[in-house]
Order: sequence, then structure tokens, then C-alpha cells
Amino acid sequence: GKPICQCNSCYGGDDCSILLPDCAVDAHSGNPRFLEPYWRKNAASSTVVVAGWHRLGYTYEDDSYMSRELGNVIQKLHAVVGNANTTGKYILFGAGATQLLNAAIMSLSQPPSQHSNDGGNCLLRTNVVASAPFYPVCKMQTEMYNSLNFKWRGDPSSWKNKSDSSENFIEVVTSPSNPEGKLKDPVLKGASVKTIYDYAYYWPHYTGISSPANTDLMIFTLSKLTGHGGSRFGWAFVKDKAVYERMAHYLEVNSVGASQDAQLRALVLLRTVLKDDGREFFGFGHKTLRERLVKLNRSLSKSKRFSLQKLSPHNCSFFNQVTDPSPAYGWVKCVREEDRDCAAVLKSAGILGKKGSYFSADDKYVRLNLIGNQDDFDLLLRRMDTLVSQE
Ligand code: PMP
Repeated sequence: GKPICQCNSCYGGDDCSILLPDCAVDAHSGNPRFLEPYWRKNAASSTVVVAGWHRLGYTYEDDSYMSRELGNVIQKLHAVVGNANTTGKYILFGAGATQLLNAAIMSLSQPPSQHSNDGGNCLLRTNVVASAPFYPVCKMQTEMYNSLNFKWRGDPSSWKNKSDSSENFIEVVTSPSNPEGKLKDPVLKGASVKTIYDYAYYWPHYTGISSPANTDLMIFTLSKLTGHGGSRFGWAFVKDKAVYERMAHYLEVNSVGASQDAQLRALVLLRTVLKDDGREFFGFGHKTLRERLVKLNRSLSKSKRFSLQKLSPHNCSFFNQVTDPSPAYGWVKCVREEDRDCAAVLKSAGILGKKGSYFSADDKYVRLNLIGNQDDFDLLLRRMDTLVSQE
């Protein structure tokens, strides 16, 4: 019979069991499919069916765009996982971290001010920075809006000793980082600096949770937490009331709040995760990614041509033990001088990765997706083994 669902990349045939010849394996995207076995096992409690008459109109009963029940479940999840202190902070929902990052940049940037000592000719825009290698969505948004209020300025290190100047800064800190999976601290500090924390990966499957994050602007997303990237749902916790109000205004003007269908799905998914306080879910997630890293490390340990990022174990309050690294991505370096385009080297061996320059890093680096489905990962490993064996 016909396959009941789409085959994974590189597989075909009626039951998706035939490996297609000359097919490059997709380790390029950041598609989080590794949690599919958990969701299949928990299909009954995580299924959402919505009748046509359910929830017509734009708002909930209390006239807001946010489900109060979902807000409570999210607070409970953070309390159970111990990854964020949400006390005394305002919550906001958006179409993934992508929309919330932009809402935050818009809300934290200042209207341009006149520079006092240049005759008033220079309009000073808020500088938006992030330390490389970084996931480029904020850079893309900032450049696309080309706003009078803010400007993309690349790496914060060049301003490290100048941040007490009259210029304003927004530093976007992604921790753990994408692509490297490292826990990060801001480079810039001081009264003229505002920091946005992107915690898309601050969950026990990707890193040890050493202590609850307690920063002024924290962004989380369903995408990398449960794998439901296409639902487009994320949330932010904001300490400052004025910033919260500006962000809420942005979200209203930009999209009239977050999709209620996405909110309903998030509610049902997170309730499933919480049914045993997240033990099965995060246990499965961490074990899967840990095994993948061990296998990739083993494969590359025989190589003199490729190296993989080094990460340290972290104490994890959620698992109550020290947990070994389990990053979302492999950040591979081509060591040889002549391998200047590492993505091209891997591509010629049938592996598609993302180029270092996408993350404002050198093309001697390439990012490999470790959170895809099992077939893609197994094929990636086989291709890597073959490539290393040919050295
Ligand atoms: N921030 C980081 C660091 C990411 O890796 C991603 C997804 N790749 C996002 C934000 C965007 O996530 P979302 O799907 O929630 O918009």
C-alpha cells in the first residue's frame, strides 16, 4: 500500500524503506523532529480536536489575547523544570521566538537622539549586537526594518570598553547558543545596555539546568521545547512594566495577539509533558541527544581532518545530577588549511550542513543538525564514518 505519511529525506518506496542512491542527507535545517517517538507514544493525551463552533472571535472571555490557563501551565512548567524564575514578571505570547525577539528589539530601542557635540548632525540609533557565532534572525530583522531607532552593529566585543558612552545598546544573548550549545553571558554591561535573553535551548534535553534564569527579558519557544516549530508559539517574561506594555502594543499592532489554535495546542502538549513532572519527556529528549553526540564524537575522534566543539558537563537541578553535553547542533571545524569551505567538503560526501558564515563565523565551520529524525541522524553518522575512513 501507499505510505501513510511522508518518507524521511533520502528514503522512498511504498513503506519508506528504500535508501535513495546519491541522496544528500539533510543536516542543514534546525528541524526538531527528534521528539517524534515521544509524541507517538503519547498520542492519546496530546491530540487536539477542535469543533468548528469553538472560539469564534479574537479574544478570550477576559478580553485578552492570551489564555490564562496556558499562562498558568507555562509558569508551572518553569517551576518544575527550574529553568526560569517567573515571579513578578509579565508574560506575553507571540508567533514563536522570532516575533518576540523583534517585539523586544522594537520596545527596547530608543528614538534617535541628537549627538550634542557634532552640531546635531548625527542621529544616534540604538546599536543591536550579538557575539558570533550567532543565529541570525535578529540581524535579519534589524537590517530588514532599517529603522531610524535601531541598527545592526555586529559583534559587541568592539564596544566592550566604550559602553559607558552616549550610545545605547541592545545585546541579544542566546544561551545555550545556536550553533555551539554554550551557556553565554552578555559581553556588554552598564546603564546604556539592555539585554535580551533568548532561552530557546535552555531546557534539560539540551543542557544541564544549573539555576533558574532570572533576567529582565527572557524569551522561550515551543519550537525547540516540544518540537512543534510549525505551531509558531513562544512566550516572553518581562520585568519592566513599560517594556512589557510596549511589547504588548507591538504584538497587538503586528498580529492582534497570538493564534488561539496555537495556544490550545500548546496547552494540550504542555499538559502532557507535565503529567509526570516532565520526567519521561525530558528524560527521552536528553538521552536521545546525548547518544547522538557520543556517536558523532566517536566517529570524529578518529579524524585528523574534522573536529567538534567541546562542551562541559553541567550540574542539572532537574535531573538532580551532573549531565553530560547534549547539544542541538554539531559545530564541526575543518582543520586542514586547504578545507576553507567546510560545508562544501561535507556536501561532496553527501552531507548537507549550514555554512559557518550564516552564523557570522568562518566557513571553516559548519553546523550539523542533531535534533532531526533518527533516520537522518543515522545516515549522517554513516556518511561521516565513511568520510573519516577515507582520510
Ligand atoms: N532563537 C534561536 C536561538 C533559534 O535557534 C530559533 C530557531 N531556530 C529561534 C530563535 C526561532 O524560533 P521560533 O520557531 O520560536 O520562532
